[in-house]
Amino acid sequence: MLWGKLMTCIFCHIVAHELPAEILYEDEDLAVFKDINPEAPVHLLIVPRKHIDSINALDEKNVGVVSKMVLAAKRMAEQHGVQSGYRLMMNNGREAGQVVYHLHMHFMGGWGRKPVRR
Ligand code: 5GP
Ligand code: ZN
Repeated sequence: MLWGKLMTCIFCHIVAHELPAEILYEDEDLAVFKDINPEAPVHLLIVPRKHIDSINALDEKNVGVVSKMVLAAKRMAEQHGVQSGYRLMMNNGREAGQVVYHLHMHFMGGWGRKPVRR
């Protein structure tokens, strides 16, 4: 797809600073910003800069970014003081509830001592 030229992907625009978001961390590979509709006290999205539709579009060449996303999650847990419990989630495909087709990892945590709802 011509994501560079005909860019209609919301997360591409956010990581390029062309749409607003509360960005908490960024480097050359990825950005972390707050989910606009949080489902946890701390709900962040960890998003590679490069457009990849979903896990289905990963291969040996681009899968390396996923380990960087996990390390970013670890750093976010430290920064937000939620190392005692956080959840990482990647929805893949419509049936799993994927809405934005730009690879991303949900970081959820901060429940504190409240019981965890599953
Ligand atoms: P998915 O269901 O695709 O895994 O998750 C997409 C997530 O992106 C949802 O949790 C939704 O709230 C979030 N989201 C959708 N549009 C925006 C936006 O424009 N800005 C931010 N910060 N989050 C968004
Ligand atoms: Zn994109």
